[in-house]
Amino acid sequence: MNMPPLMDDGFAGEPPAKRVLNYMQGHKQKGDPIVGIYCGYAPIELIQALGLVPAVLCAFSKVPIPAAETVLPANLCPLIKSSYGFIVEGTCPFYAMSQAVIAETTCDGKKKMFELIADIKPTHVMDLPQMPDQQEAQRNWKQMILKLQGFLEKNFDRRADRHQIEAALQASNRKNALVQKIFDYAALTPSVLHWKEMYEVCFLALPATYAEMQPILEALLPKLERRVQEGVHFGPPGAPRVLVTGCPIGGDATKIFNVIEAAGGVVVAPDSCTGLKPFLNFFAENTDDPVGALAERYLKLPCACMTPNDGRLSHLSALIERFKPDVVIDFVLQACHGYNVESYKVGKHVQETHGLPFLKVETDYSDGDTEQLKTRVEALFERIR
Ligand code: SF4
Ligand code: SF4
Repeated sequence: MNMPPLMDDGFAGEPPAKRVLNYMQGHKQKGDPIVGIYCGYAPIELIQALGLVPAVLCAFSKVPIPAAETVLPANLCPLIKSSYGFIVEGTCPFYAMSQAVIAETTCDGKKKMFELIADIKPTHVMDLPQMPDQQEAQRNWKQMILKLQGFLEKNFDRRADRHQIEAALQASNRKNALVQKIFDYAALTPSVLHWKEMYEVCFLALPATYAEMQPILEALLPKLERRVQEGVHFGPPGAPRVLVTGCPIGGDATKIFNVIEAAGGVVVAPDSCTGLKPFLNFFAENTDDPVGALAERYLKLPCACMTPNDGRLSHLSALIERFKPDVVIDFVLQACHGYNVESYKVGKHVQETHGLPFLKVETDYSDGDTEQLKTRVEALFERIR
C-alpha cells in the first residue's frame, strides 16, 4: 500500500543511510569527533557521555566484496567481507569521518579482520566475555568498558564522570522507550508500520541522542495513530505476519524482506542488531555504578557469539507474544557459524514452545538465490493457509 512517508522532517524519501550521513555530516561540521562502531556491543552511551558521536560503519553492500576477497577468504561471512571491502576501497563515508574505531571480539572472522584494519586508524578492540551467565563475565566486561573509556579519553582529550555516564544511559532509556512506542504499531494486527519505516527509525535512532530523536519520534506517533483510525495498513488482508530473526540485515541483505513481501507476507518484527534488538533492554538507573549498569545491559544482548545464548530464546518468546507472528524465519549469512549452528535450537524453540512454522534461510548479499528464496517462503506460507 502506498502511503505518505512517515518522516517528513526534510529528509523525506531519502534512504536511511543517506539520512544518517546527513546527521553525521552535521556533527562533523560542528566539530564533534566521530567514533566508528561495528557491533551491538559497542557502549554507545559511554561514547555520548564523552561528547563523541558514534557512527555505525558500512557492512551491507555486495559491491566492495570482490576487493575484500583479494585478501580475505571467499568463504567468509559477507558482512565481514563487505566491512573490510568498504575500508580498503575507501568507500565508507562513516569510516572516513571517524577518528577512531571501536571493535569487539565477537566471531572469529570479525576479530581477525579487525587485526587487518588496526593500522589504518586507531582501533580499540574490546575483549567480549562470551559466557554471559558466568559470574565473572559482567565484572570483566565492566573492566573492558572502563578500558575503552581510558582509550577514548586519551585519544580525544575528554573526560566523563559517573554523572555524565548516568545521564547518557538515562537518556538512552528514554529514547528506547519512545522507539518501543513506534514498534507497538508494527505489533498491531494488521500492522500499520512498514519494515522500511522501522528501519528508518532504527538506523537514525541508534547513533542519535534522546534530545535529537525526541521531536522526530514524537511527531511520528500521531501519524501512526491516524493510520489506525483510518484503517490503513500494510499487506493484503490476512497476509502472513513474519518475525525475521538472526544475523544483522541491511542494504543488499534486505532482499529477504522484499522476498517475504513478494510472497504475500508482512514483516512485523525484524529481530536483529539492525532492527529491534538494540532498543529492547533498559539500563538500571540511579545505581552507584553506571558503568556496571552499562556492562549488565550490554551483556544481555542475545548474540549467537555467546554460549549458551539462552537469552535469545526468552527474547524470541517475548517478541512472539508481542508481535504475534504467524511464522518465524531465521536469517543466516553464509559462513556465520554461530547463527547457523544456533538455528537448530531456535527452530526447535519456535516450533515446540510456540507451535509456529519455522524456516532457516542461509544466504549472502548476491541476488542469485532470490527466486529460490521466494519459492521456499511461499511454501512456508502455504503451511498456514
Ligand atoms: S549479531 Fe552479534 S556480532 Fe553481529 S552486530 Fe549483533 S552483537 Fe555484534
Ligand atoms: S553475521 Fe555472523 S559471521 Fe558475520 S559478522 Fe556477524 S556474527 Fe560474525
